[in-house]
Amino acid sequence: MQARRRPHRHAAFSAAFIAVHGRQLRAGQVRGAGFGRSGPRLARPRLQGGLPVLSPAAPPAVKSYNLEAFVLRMRPLGEADRIVTLFSRERGKGHAVAKGVRKPHSKFGARLDFFSRVQLSLHTGRSLDVITAAQTVTSSWESVIDPERFGAASYVGEIVDALCEPDLAVEDLYDTVCQFQQGLCDKQADPELLIAAFDLRLLQALGLTPELDACARCGTGLGNRPLAGGRAVLSAHAGGLLCRTCSLQLTESERYADERSGVFSVKAAEFKALRALREAILGDAASLTSAAAGCSASSLHRATRPFIEYQLGRRSKSLTVAGNQQHALRAPKAG
Ligand SMILES: [Zn+2]
Repeated sequence: MQARRRPHRHAAFSAAFIAVHGRQLRAGQVRGAGFGRSGPRLARPRLQGGLPVLSPAAPPAVKSYNLEAFVLRMRPLGEADRIVTLFSRERGKGHAVAKGVRKPHSKFGARLDFFSRVQLSLHTGRSLDVITAAQTVTSSWESVIDPERFGAASYVGEIVDALCEPDLAVEDLYDTVCQFQQGLCDKQADPELLIAAFDLRLLQALGLTPELDACARCGTGLGNRPLAGGRAVLSAHAGGLLCRTCSLQLTESERYADERSGVFSVKAAEFKALRALREAILGDAASLTSAAAGCSASSLHRATRPFIEYQLGRRSKSLTVAGNQQHALRAPKAG
């Protein structure tokens, strides 16, 4: 049987867009610049007595607007400015400039904290929009001073930034990030379990949900039958669960591919927990713990991570850094 081809990134997002908006993406609607340049195009001016007149149907160009968004990333720009990567419900991912925020007496620089939810006023700029005011809606500052929670927030910032197209709203994903922030602030919630649940919800929001109810290759329903040998075979390359027949038909290269696209198996209890985790409420520690049903957070995250890294096409930098830090902390001190 021919191996399933990896879905093209744009094809996947096009599918997600259709799921959300019910129509196909048009050429030129997704662009790489900041907010504000992907809205409906204005009708071309028609000439009347030699003077250009805008069509009455054309909406006026928006100069200033308000936006609630998460701060995913900040990079220095010039002497005192920053480029801020934002993620909002209405506009998806985008970049904006915060001028003068690295100066000691900046008016709102302190409110543009990493992974904070902020209410912004922006002015449409020539290339990037400019942030003119910011108010904190919810802050994660107290949570992200904990290294493990900071690692989890960095991971979410990294994959949302990497997997979301600019200026493409994904409302379900915004709600999931809101829930993730609530979970992050809840000391009862395990950050690694939060990440595993977030992985599944992010893939779902982008139309890339791993198939866990039937075989991803032949479509055979799982039903209520026990899994062969007490383990479930999963493959990020195939897109989810593999039935016994399909897992036996794997070629050598598929079976022994690298971790990201290779085949791996999980215990039946972990597979059941993964299915339950799809419906868990991220902001509710009790809901996550109940879905995990005694399975360790690291075993569940090990099962979701290949699906994310397969879409990323690389390892997560945040998880690699966090893993190295934990390894360094566990290593016995010299002398
Ligand atoms: Zn099958």
